[in-house]
Amino acid sequence: MQPESAQRRRATPSRLALWSTVVCLGLFTTGVGPRFDGAAWGAVYDLGLYNAVYVGAAIVCLFAVRRSSADRLAWAALTVAIVLGVAGNLVYTLAIAPMAEEPFPSVADLFYLAYYLPLYVALVALIRSRVQRFHASMWLDGVVGALGAGAVCVAVMLGPALEVTEGDTSAVVTSLAYPIADVVLLALLVAVGAILGVRRDRTLLLLAAAIGANLVGDIVFLDLATQGIYVEGGPLDLTWLTAVTLMAVAAHTGTRRRAGSSARAVPSTRVGWRVLAVPLACNVASLVVLGFDSGHRFNPAAAWLAVGCVLAALARVAITFREVRAFNEVREQARTDELTLLPNRRALLEEASALLADITAQRPAALLLLDLDGFKEVNDSLGHHAGDQLLRQIGPRLRPALRSNDLLARLGGDEFAVLLPDAGLDEAEALAARLHDAIAQPFAVEGIRLHVGVSIGVASAPVPAATVEELLRCADVAMYAAKAGRSGVHVYVPDPRGGSGDRLRTMEELRTALQADDQLEVHLQPQVDLLSGAVVGAEALVRWQHPTRGLLSPADLLPAAEQAGLLRSLTDAVLELSLGAVARWWPEQAVPVSVNLSAANVTDLDLPGKVAQALVRHGLPARALTLELVEDTFMTDPERGRQVLGELRRLGVRTSIDDYGTGYSSLAYLRHLPADELKLDRSLTHDVGTEPRAASIVRHTVALAHELGISVVAEGVEDDATGSALAALGCDVAQGYAIARPMPVTDFLRWLDRPEHPLRDAGRSLRG
Ligand code: C2E
Ligand code: MG
Ligand code: MG
Repeated sequence: MQPESAQRRRATPSRLALWSTVVCLGLFTTGVGPRFDGAAWGAVYDLGLYNAVYVGAAIVCLFAVRRSSADRLAWAALTVAIVLGVAGNLVYTLAIAPMAEEPFPSVADLFYLAYYLPLYVALVALIRSRVQRFHASMWLDGVVGALGAGAVCVAVMLGPALEVTEGDTSAVVTSLAYPIADVVLLALLVAVGAILGVRRDRTLLLLAAAIGANLVGDIVFLDLATQGIYVEGGPLDLTWLTAVTLMAVAAHTGTRRRAGSSARAVPSTRVGWRVLAVPLACNVASLVVLGFDSGHRFNPAAAWLAVGCVLAALARVAITFREVRAFNEVREQARTDELTLLPNRRALLEEASALLADITAQRPAALLLLDLDGFKEVNDSLGHHAGDQLLRQIGPRLRPALRSNDLLARLGGDEFAVLLPDAGLDEAEALAARLHDAIAQPFAVEGIRLHVGVSIGVASAPVPAATVEELLRCADVAMYAAKAGRSGVHVYVPDPRGGSGDRLRTMEELRTALQADDQLEVHLQPQVDLLSGAVVGAEALVRWQHPTRGLLSPADLLPAAEQAGLLRSLTDAVLELSLGAVARWWPEQAVPVSVNLSAANVTDLDLPGKVAQALVRHGLPARALTLELVEDTFMTDPERGRQVLGELRRLGVRTSIDDYGTGYSSLAYLRHLPADELKLDRSLTHDVGTEPRAASIVRHTVALAHELGISVVAEGVEDDATGSALAALGCDVAQGYAIARPMPVTDFLRWLDRPEHPLRDAGRSLRG
């Protein structure tokens, strides 16, 4: 592409040449009627002005060659054509016309006939620059166009001229050559139209007009010449001059915009009226020629051209049929999920858009979003092949519960969706419950009976979701709520306070909150040693002081943080707040703080470096920090996780496995986890006082952990009795409401200073 200023510089001489062409044409027009007598005036008009138009047009085309990249060949060919025309004119006016008896054919005819060749080249070059790849249907459209145009041309306009057989051979050949060259030119022009389709391409339209003017001139000239009544300098000459002027305008405007932008590529699908209009018209014309020719009134060539046109059109129909079928197959493939052969996300979106386009409150629709629970475990433990097998069984399992016009689609991964036309919220919820139960039945995968669950979000349109995006988002939020609440099915209900369920908005607000630095805070929950009663740690739990929604808990903000990819920044912020808090009590009491990590942190190779820097910044030793992670987060990339945790421990930071008892809880791999501490989840600890089996599990877990040198923290200790029972089972540390609820940092500082702590003595007495 050339710089714009350079383009403008070159456009000015081109514009001058174009204006001089137009002015000369205007001046010549004044002489087509009655003129002043005298050879001098003849020379001014027929030699001077007439050729000045040609020369001006040739110069404009020459400039176009230099400026254009896409249509360079076409403009070069046109320049050559116009120059040949000038040569013909000069030879005719200067040498042939003055002769007493004009010879036919003459040297001028040689130039005039040669003029057509570069014109063909220009037309072909114009197509080439507009079509990247030729299909069979394009060729056939071109052939249909060319033959049809040829048939009409021969039949109606050139028939008589083609029957000239008198005179010597060279005269016959020459007088035949003009109409044939014209027919070919017209056929080519129509072929271009047939190939490119009906389009608003200014360059092409101007050239078509130019060639049209040229053809009209030629045809009328042939007629006059055969009758011997043509006179030079008459109105007829205006047709050729108009033709070259139009060529000049095409050349000037076609390259004025950025190179290449005028040559818009042809769309690859060859279906639609714009593409088919020209071939169709040619075909109809050919049939008309054939119909009228029953009386043999036309030149036989016309009939044969028409027959050829119809045959080519038949071939075109066959190809169109093939193209449409292939197109449909590709379309079907693009809408189908390869693994399950169910419709895919694209198909669902298309159907949903169509459905929502004419939906009313009386005829609502609903969307169910299904996400399998525990699918990752199937993949991890049995392999992807088993996972695939399971996914393939979902469609057949759900189908029987659906109505015939419900659309079941796989959106990707373990996510499915059901679009329900004509279904209210109650109906949708009832169906969701049935689908939930259907999935709960065991699947047979590789000879194993597998149980997976599913979380289903239900949303309805047109209220509250009016668009497909909203419908998907609402169903997504509901699905997430179903997952978080382990409720199986959750119906999206808009929040009257302005959407606490609106995860998208939450994501945006959280992004701002992370930058604002006064909205996020940590609450601290103490951990006490069950043996000595000493405070041995505090867990930092993130809270978000939301400007309108009040204090939000991790359940409200973590899903949004995860979706927005903000988990790493969130941890950075919490780490900063937590270490800032420890620094306030560390000089008096060496009580470390525990910070929770998420999966995104465990695989973050920069984490050890960031932690080390933060510790230095706050003047704290590494043992002032414990990092907690849930075993599942570690499992996303165990190799990398091990590396990150290993480095952290080398720094001296303690690591802790959180929520033990909710995930895999495999004692076997505790061995491989670089951990110093194990936190037993409340689900494991809350009924140790009453359930012998629970007590037994805790006892053995504690024993193994101790064997491996890992200390055990019991979480969610809500009453003293449970605390005592856990102490008796060997747990080292307790955390829970029985000791204290999570509290703001200043409250925690006061709490630390209190002389007596609940549970302190419970443990001591039991162990003692
Ligand atoms: P967690 O790490 O297991 O934290 C303990 C959760 O149990 C806290 O909930 C705490 O308030 C609650 N809890 C404490 N004692 C008791 C009790 O006696 N009974 C009951 N029923 N619950 C008790 P919270 O603050 O809502 O935090 C929930 C989870 O959010 C945390 O579970 C942790 O996994 C995550 N989380 C909290 N803060 C952060 C953070 O800064 N980053 C990350 N990635 N996760 C965090
Ligand atoms: Mg925790
Ligand atoms: Mg926990």
